[in-house]
Amino acid sequence: MVRASIGTLAVLGLRHVRMAAVPTTGYLMVGGTCTADCAYCGQGRRVVGDHSRLSRITWPEVGENQLVEAFGAHPGAFQRVCFQTTASRGVLEQLLELVPRIREASGVPISVSYRVTKLEEADQLFVAGVQRIGIAIDCCSERLYPQLRGGSLADSMSLVVGLAERYPGRISTHLIIGLGEDEMEAAELMLELRQAGILVSLFAFTPVRGTRMEHDSPPALLSYRKLQLLLGLLDWQEKERVYISYDAQHNIHALGLSEAEVRSFLHKHFVFVTHGCPGCNRPFYTEVPGGTMFNFPNVPTEAVQREIDQFVEDLKVDGFDFAHVQSSGGEGGPMEVMRHCLEGEEEVEPSS
Ligand code: SF4
Repeated sequence: MVRASIGTLAVLGLRHVRMAAVPTTGYLMVGGTCTADCAYCGQGRRVVGDHSRLSRITWPEVGENQLVEAFGAHPGAFQRVCFQTTASRGVLEQLLELVPRIREASGVPISVSYRVTKLEEADQLFVAGVQRIGIAIDCCSERLYPQLRGGSLADSMSLVVGLAERYPGRISTHLIIGLGEDEMEAAELMLELRQAGILVSLFAFTPVRGTRMEHDSPPALLSYRKLQLLLGLLDWQEKERVYISYDAQHNIHALGLSEAEVRSFLHKHFVFVTHGCPGCNRPFYTEVPGGTMFNFPNVPTEAVQREIDQFVEDLKVDGFDFAHVQSSGGEGGPMEVMRHCLEGEEEVEPSS
């Protein structure tokens, strides 16, 4: 058996549910109870009760053959298919068998989110027809990583960076904001990942019942928005230098952009939409319809101006520094990072 997100099944005509937004990627999940024990994940081995949820989404089981037939019967339904996996026995074998079938039936690129432990596993997945592999780092803090996820952030980084060197442009990662990290930890990790050519996808922490973090809160929207803006600036690199200033609490205090520059960038690149592999919109993975929209599944044309105004207003209330920092400009050049450290020192660090 395999699981599929309820929205994916609806698009494939296998379930009837009303959707606030239609998924543009088909999301599947393979693997049994996870052997890992992440404090925030509904699939962890110590989760009490229902294992059918990942983030806010339910994932009913469906037969493999039924699924393959449904993809074949709905050409053009999706722009991509993404396999989520648990760390459990037999997952790689199941992927190697199922990926070519879904690839052929759907005709779209395949992403796999998988805990690669050896480079050879990635080799096998790419040979089987996978276009992109996502290796979730999730936790941005070396301090918190051992207790929330197990292992070390440095080890995970070295694996992901090693894979990105071997497969340039084909490695992604997920970061969950709101696990107790500070903005500087998240921002610095994003910088490191982007400089290594790794696509970063942000998730807002969502408390899931039965997990160790079920009573914790989602991140502050302003923090999340600042990190979305930084990620956008890194992705749509319009200047050769990225400027970041942190305050004494390790919050992002300035990005070297005036208010007009922030507004203009956000009108050009509305970075509050879901960010990830091309075609991935993950509708309501971490949001409740009508609630705080950390990630919009599509550009909400009627709400763009309001969201930008609100963000800028929140930045002002928070004391964000809109001082413009001169940059030599120019697209596509090597990126430099200029940090304004707590002590007031400035350092310029060229990218690798
Ligand atoms: S960004 Fe989207 S498509 Fe890519 S691995 Fe993550 S969930 Fe899957």
